[in-house]
Amino acid sequence: MIRHLSRRGFLAGSVSLTAAQALGQVPASGDVDVAIVGAGAAGIAAARRVASAGRTYALLEASDRIGGRVWSGRGGFGIEHDRGAHFMSASGRNPLVALGRLEKLELQNASPFRRIYVGQREARDSEYDAFTAALRRANRAISAAGEAGRDIAASQAMPDVGDWTRTVGFALGPNAVSKNLENVSTVDFARLEDQPDEVVCRTGLGQLLTAVARPLKVTLASSVIRIGPAARGPIFLETSRGNIRAETVIVTVSSNLLASGRFKFDTALPKRTLDAAEALSLGTRDRLIFELKGNPFRFTNDQRILFKGMDARNVGFVGRAGGSDLCFAEFTGSFGREMSAKGEAAMRAFVADQIAEHFGAQARKYLGRAEAVRWSSDPLILGGTSAAVPGKGNSRRILAEPLFDRMFLAGEAVHETWYGSVAGAWVTGERAADAALRYLAPKQAPVKGKK
Ligand SMILES: Cc1cc2nc3c(=O)[nH]c(=O)nc-3n(C[C@H](O)[C@H](O)[C@H](O)COP(=O)(O)OP(=O)(O)OC[C@H]3O[C@@H](n4cnc5c(N)ncnc54)[C@H](O)[C@@H]3O)c2cc1C
Repeated sequence: MIRHLSRRGFLAGSVSLTAAQALGQVPASGDVDVAIVGAGAAGIAAARRVASAGRTYALLEASDRIGGRVWSGRGGFGIEHDRGAHFMSASGRNPLVALGRLEKLELQNASPFRRIYVGQREARDSEYDAFTAALRRANRAISAAGEAGRDIAASQAMPDVGDWTRTVGFALGPNAVSKNLENVSTVDFARLEDQPDEVVCRTGLGQLLTAVARPLKVTLASSVIRIGPAARGPIFLETSRGNIRAETVIVTVSSNLLASGRFKFDTALPKRTLDAAEALSLGTRDRLIFELKGNPFRFTNDQRILFKGMDARNVGFVGRAGGSDLCFAEFTGSFGREMSAKGEAAMRAFVADQIAEHFGAQARKYLGRAEAVRWSSDPLILGGTSAAVPGKGNSRRILAEPLFDRMFLAGEAVHETWYGSVAGAWVTGERAADAALRYLAPKQAPVKGKK
């Protein structure tokens, strides 16, 4: 994710199948080897794995599109862009990057440097150096506490790094892991790997996910309402479009949804699992997408932008997403949630003020159309990305434990070191599928060609 520390580098189609197409394609009921709940990155990865092993599956998605927190569209802008995840980190080992290349999609390197403004000018080299040193120092101190097993709030381990303290606190907290450092466990923080070398898909990460999901059968608009008893026999899944019976189940819904109790399990989930999901609550990462026609401030493509002095009550920008005139303002942490609840007009006004403050009052005129994507109020997600609360730094490995031998959780919150990312979600989907296939292995071998 977004926490790597290279100099100036930042810590780092909409729908493939319409509901109508899916209705014609996929039975909404029946018997399968594996039922997969949710067609985000984890669900798609799991289904690909199960399908390639020749096992039957049902990939059940409540929404009328695939992708979950990966969503590309045009909105009112007429330009394909990411409304959710945008960057693919650790491009050398990111499975999505390899798949994007196979699909011959246009991938381009994101700027490895963050841009920093001090007042109304860009930071000088010495200021960039000071910021990088402060960021490294703070990152090391928080990680050292976590590595030593001191599972406390990251804010408590945050050193005073002089006049960069607030900006660094913002960069390491809300901007990187979607939560204020007060709400982040040092142990969880320490485990997040630095993942530099980011790549973006010029036409949107959603297009990439759509391309890799194309061979799959997805049942859209099929909300899983209840998962039946898990003790013996097939597991029964009640969905809004029919019932499914499955030998094994993979659940990929967000940690907030899992903890919310909206999702009914007849065999109650173990308390430790529910507690872990709750501890891995999602921070906020809502977005205002806005137009800056003609690149008036000469932003670099896919570059993260910070302002010296900004604190947790502020927003970071991403400039020229995919090389377009669209920029993102990321409303993160508790301030992001507060602003997002006030609505799109308030978010836009905040960004306009930010632009005026850093580029001059006359710069407001460059702000064109704007649209908010508010993941925190999306009932199928309920937030941005997961971060463990203080004292609960070991929660991810609890979520990774199999349930009743044949139910598996997957999704970004389950990955211990690559959480909060599409790649992490993908890997956990593949792992869950492998576990499901191992469970099925002693049973009847798959019928050749059966899908
Ligand atoms: C604004 C934003 C920016 C981000 N930026 C980046 C980035 O640049 N790079 C990066 O790597 N990551 C980024 N992330 C994180 C990344 O998007 C997620 O980690 C990843 O997409 C999560 O995938 P998932 O499969 O775990 O969950 P999800 O994408 O949440 O998928 C779960 C699916 O389950 C479905 N579902 C829910 N309830 C039910 C039900 N009852 N029945 C059936 N289906 C159901 C949902 O509709 C959803 O499709 C960002 C996230 C946000 C919000």
